Amino acid sequence: MNRASQLFLVSIVATAMPASAWAQGGIQYDKIEIKTDKVAPNLYMLSGSEGVDPGHPDGAGGRIGVLAGPDGIFMVDSQYLQIGDKVLAAIRRIDAGPIRFLVNTHIHGDHTAGNETFAKLGAVLLAREELREGMARQPAPAAPAPARDPARLPVVTYGMGDPVRFRMNGETVELIPVRAAHTGGDTMVRFVNADVIMIGDFYRNFGYPFIDTNNGGSLKGALDALELTMKTAGPNTRLIPGHGTYINRTDIIPYRDMILAVQTRVQQLIAQGKTVGDIARELLLRNKTVSTYRTRLLVKMDMKTNADITSYVMQHRLMH
Ligand SMILES: [Zn+2]
Repeated sequence: MNRASQLFLVSIVATAMPASAWAQGGIQYDKIEIKTDKVAPNLYMLSGSEGVDPGHPDGAGGRIGVLAGPDGIFMVDSQYLQIGDKVLAAIRRIDAGPIRFLVNTHIHGDHTAGNETFAKLGAVLLAREELREGMARQPAPAAPAPARDPARLPVVTYGMGDPVRFRMNGETVELIPVRAAHTGGDTMVRFVNADVIMIGDFYRNFGYPFIDTNNGGSLKGALDALELTMKTAGPNTRLIPGHGTYINRTDIIPYRDMILAVQTRVQQLIAQGKTVGDIARELLLRNKTVSTYRTRLLVKMDMKTNADITSYVMQHRLMH
């Protein structure tokens, strides 16, 4: 198993970091610059600069999509709140029109923290019902205070039915709901004419895969999401993750196989009677890190013993 798989395994077993990477200190907001990449005649991808966001060294924050034209602007995700002015300036270099809609691919702050900036400019915020519920709950203590502004909450929500469709600027935009994958409220955003799908964070080609079970994500859901992506995408469809480089559907296969290999490994280790501590130790983490992970898990999950963790792992189908 490679290093990425090892870290991934630990993140599954320990339900990952108590606060996601976006909440860590050390992001140098003042140094973030926004790069704009034109992927179709009226579709642009905005991403933050390298080396200034410890959680996302390849590009600060999550990627933003901008569909521009005479019908107004449609945005996908909103980046960090602290750089709202820079994101807005980048959008204004593309188009001066009204920002009408903003959809969130998932709840994490590197994709949603800037919501209020655009809501206050008149954008209608859209997301899965689960995403709104998660945001409306009391934010984690680590979340920055401005993240509590109610303007950040989605106004229009949808469930797991047919895609929500927008017809704007000569494009058909489909909001495709994805059941419990990276989080419990994931959406893929497909631009039909441009043949582009923004897939959020259930696929990652930079850093290690992260299934946020605290926010309703699941391993099975992540695998289903990858299958759905392969089914939805054509051979030439550009799949654009929330972080890292663009891919196409053939790139999904080795990623899915890696997740399946990790799943098998978890199953084997638990079947051997290994505790979470044993598993982490086997994955070459320091003892202190292991005990920190275990303690965090027990506290966060209101569990007391390794047996509780084992039944949690089984219940969440990490073994099947
Ligand atoms: Zn992200």
